[in-house]
Amino acid sequence: MSLLSIPVATLGTPRIGPRRELKLALESYWAGKSDETQLLEAAAALRAANWARQKSLGVTLIPSNDFSLYDHVLDTSVMVGAIPEIYGWSAGPVSLKTYFAMARGAQRDDHDANGGHAEHGAAAQEMTKWFDTNYHYMVPEYHKDQTFTLSSRKPIEEYEEAKSLGCQTRPVLVGPVTFLKLGKSADPAFDPLLLLDRLLPVYIDVLRELTLRGAEWVQLDEPCLVLDLDDATRDALRRTYAHLAKKVPDLKIMLATYFGTIGDNLETALTLPVAGLHIDLVRAPEQLSAIVADARRDIVLSLGVVDGRNVWRSNLPAVLDQLEPAIAKLGKDRVQIAPSCSLLHVPIDLELEADLDPDVKSWLAFSVQKIGELATLGRVLAKGWEEAADVLEASEGAAVARETSPNVHNANVAKRMAAIDDGMRRRRSSFARRAEVQRARFGLPTFPTTTIGSFPQTAEVRNARAAHARGTMSDAQYEQFLKEETARAVRWQEDIGLDVLVHGEFERNDMVQYFGEQLSGFAFTKHGWVQSYGSRCVRPPILFGDVSRPKPMAVEWWRYAQSLTKKPLKAMLTGPVTILNWSFVRDDIPRSEACRQIALAIRDEVIDLERSSAMMIQIDEAALREGLPLRKSQWKTYLGWAVDSFRICSSGVADETQIHTHMCYSEFNDIIDAIAAMDADVISIETSRSKMQLLDAFKSYKYPNEIGPGVYDIHSPRVPDAAEMKSLIALARQRLSDAQLWINPDCGLKTRRWDEVRPALINMVAAARELRAAS
Ligand code: GLN
Ligand code: ZN
Repeated sequence: MSLLSIPVATLGTPRIGPRRELKLALESYWAGKSDETQLLEAAAALRAANWARQKSLGVTLIPSNDFSLYDHVLDTSVMVGAIPEIYGWSAGPVSLKTYFAMARGAQRDDHDANGGHAEHGAAAQEMTKWFDTNYHYMVPEYHKDQTFTLSSRKPIEEYEEAKSLGCQTRPVLVGPVTFLKLGKSADPAFDPLLLLDRLLPVYIDVLRELTLRGAEWVQLDEPCLVLDLDDATRDALRRTYAHLAKKVPDLKIMLATYFGTIGDNLETALTLPVAGLHIDLVRAPEQLSAIVADARRDIVLSLGVVDGRNVWRSNLPAVLDQLEPAIAKLGKDRVQIAPSCSLLHVPIDLELEADLDPDVKSWLAFSVQKIGELATLGRVLAKGWEEAADVLEASEGAAVARETSPNVHNANVAKRMAAIDDGMRRRRSSFARRAEVQRARFGLPTFPTTTIGSFPQTAEVRNARAAHARGTMSDAQYEQFLKEETARAVRWQEDIGLDVLVHGEFERNDMVQYFGEQLSGFAFTKHGWVQSYGSRCVRPPILFGDVSRPKPMAVEWWRYAQSLTKKPLKAMLTGPVTILNWSFVRDDIPRSEACRQIALAIRDEVIDLERSSAMMIQIDEAALREGLPLRKSQWKTYLGWAVDSFRICSSGVADETQIHTHMCYSEFNDIIDAIAAMDADVISIETSRSKMQLLDAFKSYKYPNEIGPGVYDIHSPRVPDAAEMKSLIALARQRLSDAQLWINPDCGLKTRRWDEVRPALINMVAAARELRAAS
């Protein structure tokens, strides 16, 4: 039999549309400017275009139900009727209104047509990171009497929709075990896995109906298989797939794992009675040989060889070399070719990027280009290398060019990396000594007050930036505008009596992009959007080469702002770990190395700031905890180089220079050693919603350095009064000494309005003053 192609899958594709059409459609619907029909039509057009594109590019296993109006985990909650009572749904199809209430919350006046929810408003479901990606899903909520019923026919409808467009698809569903594991139960002692037997019948209904309507394959995503699992979860996986095999025997299940190695769950995975197993061979290429050797003889392996998490073009001949021996053992009829994971996490089409440096562009592949690579692999594996000789040659040529390009490799950076020594990782004196010197220098009161850095990015600020980018506002006008904003913010902070000021970050579009744009080694796209959550998209910088800092980045704005006041004004930088974690990073050197390169660049900036007489420098590491690997066994290594990078960038200064850092919401219990090892003089953290409980970790560790636990929640427009903040500070004082404590909000204020920020900070200063007076 001569095969035209080995089956090629995508596992899932971006939903937002090449021009963010979904975002526009959603926002117009939410604003009441379009109706449900228009929204649903826009969504259907995106799906149709997506299917047609995949078909024309040569995908043979096209997914359906990978689309979502907001989030695929939310879709799953809705499909099985896991809808908390506050949303007012009880039975029957779930309205869009209820769906979006779960996604975004409902206002008081937001009545459902059939008299449903929202009499008092309902908060949105909690949102959290999807594994170690920057995609966020809506956390399912269960309770112990939870029942499930089929409440949305979306997978079936979208399968039929594709079929009517001439596309046979492989529907995708979040697997039942991963779905339960990702959720939380109202009673934390209740394990959602106990709901499995009640959940499975709903899945069986869906799978049966898909079979009846002609589906041959279905893809069930169980990325929980790359996590550390307990026996109960492994047992749940065994029961689930044994049950599905029995109840839906005619449907082939492709069980998809991704984001890492199956590792110690392999024995479990390989005994599951499924027709196919997808494995991530980008994150974990080493698992291939064991799986080929141990897999059941009748199982199909889906080989995830094109990186679904990063933007690099594949070196196709190298991939073929990796695959061919395995395929020789398996036989061509037991193989499918796929990206490592769904293409949801990469931008859509590189061809839209007209302004990228042509060299850099020639090394990249976005979703469309990756699908092209998969199709080439499928054809070549079926028919031989001659099938696509020039494509293969071009692919290898690009890889070689990248490997040797002077744009990527900078001898000077290599020299500096080799010269990093322990002296560069250590402040000159211990914290105790530094604290003494700093106390004498600054003479701050007890409970010094400050903020985290940004002030409101008002419509004026954003409009001015846009006008400047468009060219309708000159450099000089823009600078003048920013100076006035900054001066006003500095004056206002002085007026209300804050002790340590900030310049307000009005000149920054984004805390990572602002620095990335000034560093060598980073590229930026115009249309390289990826979904962060719902309609929100981000355009991560692309770190393609050795990093260096051609010239100072934040010195001028700091200098200007400090010139307006005698009070100390913190200079603001973004830390290396955060810049790394929020970018697409190189795959040709270890992350640790890329991070240290960024650390050296930030170190230069820190030293320049000190030379320009900055007295306090804050290096934000908002994403430090976020970057933790999925497996606990790898935490130590990650934290080792992350902390090392922070120390490299922050240790070049004298004892009298105060280093601050800031972290957004994080649990600290299991990383407190690493936090202490960062040795920042002052750390500010987000603690108000936890009622200061996050400080327990610092207390039991006897954390010695200074801390600013957030005393009010900046995510909410609500303005707390001084008494409320004082009671939070009292809780902090139960855990830490007065000498350690700073008073500040939870995070930067850029998303708030001035009429929320003004009273809140005035109350915060009052709270600190009242406490000083009383102690
Ligand atoms: N300095 C930044 C700000 O205030 C920190 C933001 C963050 O941690 N996410 O906006
Ligand atoms: Zn923050």
